[in-house]
Amino acid sequence: NTVVVTGANGLIASWVVKLLLERGYTVRGAVRNPDDTKKVGHLLQLPGANERLILCKADLLNEGAYDGVVAGADGVFHTASPFFMKNMTNPEERFLSPAVRGTLNVLKSAAKAKSVKRVVLTSSTDTVAHNRESKDPNVVVDETWWRRSRVLRRNSACVQAWYALSKLTAEKAAWDFVKDIDFDLLVMNPSMVIGPLLQNSLNSSTGIILNVITGATKEYTNFATGCVNVRDTALAHVLAYEMPSAEGRYILSKTVVHFEDIAKILKNICPGYPIPSKYAFLTLPPKARTYSLTSEKAEKLGVHFTSVEESLEECVASLRNKGFLP
Ligand code: NDP
Repeated sequence: NTVVVTGANGLIASWVVKLLLERGYTVRGAVRNPDDTKKVGHLLQLPGANERLILCKADLLNEGAYDGVVAGADGVFHTASPFFMKNMTNPEERFLSPAVRGTLNVLKSAAKAKSVKRVVLTSSTDTVAHNRESKDPNVVVDETWWRRSRVLRRNSACVQAWYALSKLTAEKAAWDFVKDIDFDLLVMNPSMVIGPLLQNSLNSSTGIILNVITGATKEYTNFATGCVNVRDTALAHVLAYEMPSAEGRYILSKTVVHFEDIAKILKNICPGYPIPSKYAFLTLPPKARTYSLTSEKAEKLGVHFTSVEESLEECVASLRNKGFLP
């Protein structure tokens, strides 16, 4: 069984690759530069990599770039997408285009390769939640929810809104692509992903946690978000791929917390760091309310979600091991 993982060097994808190798798959890892050992070295050291991991070069923006990577494969995990929270220059070009054109490029290659039986796309709870004005813990967000792009477009000065818009537009484009053809698409919608790093660089979600610990973020956002462990996220991708009855979207998240709660947990885990106690009203007061995300569908795949506390502990341990945190 041969599968492709796009953006194989990323946080989530590295764990997907690890699990797939452990389960005996042959993995083609698509990355921008297979010779960049800083980015791909950790993948080459995974058990089974010598025998069954092949790194391939592909960029989301190059039409047809995935044709050769996907040809003859049984399945595709499409995780690659621009994910950064700094630098707002040319957001259409830097966020939207690679996310949307890249997703369509991968799907077109998969549809052309008659061997591909299923594609698993990594989307986000950003495309699901945050579509209604009022939130409270009794509001249960499920997979039928869709975020409204109009609201995101009104927030064009905000990098988070561009990221969310890129995920929303890409996921919608993927569902549109498969509407009239016989094609098996599954979509994973994880919330903020934290936990242990396999790679030696920081991805955006781990960077946010590091900035809270070091006090680089003087005031963190007035924002409530789901948090999910990267190991659970990767496992859900693989279990969904393997379960014949799997269908549609999967919210990957059990617990929603305010950033203030994240800061409190971090204060316990790493005492002595300048973790700020204040949150900023980047959005309008009052304090953002938490809500509930249903994880029922994902739990039926066989995923048992790790607590936010344990995930943050693993994240901090990893930041120390990798030398990001003294
Ligand atoms: P990473 O930043 O660790 O990985 C992103 C991957 O996408 C990298 O391999 C990156 O390559 C690749 N990529 C970006 N632009 C291009 C491009 N033009 N061509 C080819 N590859 C490209 O992110 P995560 O693991 O955190 O995220 C993976 C997926 O999960 C993304 O789709 C993200 O939106 C989604 N997600 C992440 C969440 C999180 O909290 N981490 C939450 C919800 C969804 P390179 O290293 O070369 O830049």
